[in-house]
Amino acid sequence: MTEFTNLQWSTGITAGNQKLLGCVSRTRGSNFRGSGPPNYGAGPWPRDRCETESNLTEGNSPITTTTPPLNGTTDDRSVPEDLTSPLPHGRISPISSIPFFVVHLLPFLAIFTGVTWTAVILCFVTYWGRMFFITAGYHRYFSHRTYRTGRVFQFILAFGGTSAAQKGPLWWAGHHRIHHRYTDTEIDPHTPRKGFWWSHVGWILSRDTKDQPENTMKDFARFPEIRFISRFDWIAPWSLAIACFLIGGLPGLLIGFFLSTVLLWHSTFMINSLAHVYGRRRFRTNDTSRNNALLAILAMGEGWHNNHHRQASVCRQGLKWYEIDVTWYILAGLEKLHIIWDVRRPRPEDAA
Ligand SMILES: [Zn+2]
Ligand SMILES: [Zn+2]
Repeated sequence: MTEFTNLQWSTGITAGNQKLLGCVSRTRGSNFRGSGPPNYGAGPWPRDRCETESNLTEGNSPITTTTPPLNGTTDDRSVPEDLTSPLPHGRISPISSIPFFVVHLLPFLAIFTGVTWTAVILCFVTYWGRMFFITAGYHRYFSHRTYRTGRVFQFILAFGGTSAAQKGPLWWAGHHRIHHRYTDTEIDPHTPRKGFWWSHVGWILSRDTKDQPENTMKDFARFPEIRFISRFDWIAPWSLAIACFLIGGLPGLLIGFFLSTVLLWHSTFMINSLAHVYGRRRFRTNDTSRNNALLAILAMGEGWHNNHHRQASVCRQGLKWYEIDVTWYILAGLEKLHIIWDVRRPRPEDAA
């Protein structure tokens, strides 16, 4: 079975320089097998892939795309034909996956402790609060730099993100940048072309994704406090677990923290899996991304995934008034308060 290691992902990525990284064809290396690095070749690289790179780099240039919107129609579900074939996936690591599965079982202990209103409220607050840090922090800030902020709020975003128990910002955003750089190719860590299970949780439980991809996060890795919280990413979730226990006792811990964490995980994971499978495509992007209203609600706006892949450097993902994007509403408020600035907005023709 093919394994795609971080080493392989980083092959050809030199010093975070997008010029050196090159691009990858959707079909190039599709018959790649074995443990050696994929052979990206010397190019020239397909224009579509090259043009979606800038959202991953340390610069501020907005990403561009050659694919026009489908003249307002939102019912075209077609994806590029060469993205319909399945791809091989890696292996999960059974031993290191045990804590992940244990956390799923812990909420059932509430059968014995009972469920209190305090625990339910804690679950609600810790779910939505942490989801905001993932969407506004890990995704729209650390992965895509869709706005700017000061160093203190940057750290708050990083610390809050780690409370979601999805590893540190450098790991999370590093892998997400790989996802955008090589969406739905064999190098994409969680394309659904490798199967639903793999795209949903398998890739996270794999040895291959244990470490941060090399040279993908130099822009944020230069901050010592970001490196610190990425290394000690257990501080926030353990602190939150203790706080939930002190506030709500055992039900507070089991429901307010562990159940909330499981729900939070799967709502986030569904963006990687289902948002590339179910939903409508407004834009004919060079990937399988889709807009899904249910996922947009569960993940505070991230379900407008086709909009997002259209122009990943844009902060707002719900482009129409009816596309609920709670993360955007909060960030727009923070912009008015001057806590964040230089917020990137969609092109008028995309939002029209
Ligand atoms: Zn995606
Ligand atoms: Zn993204």
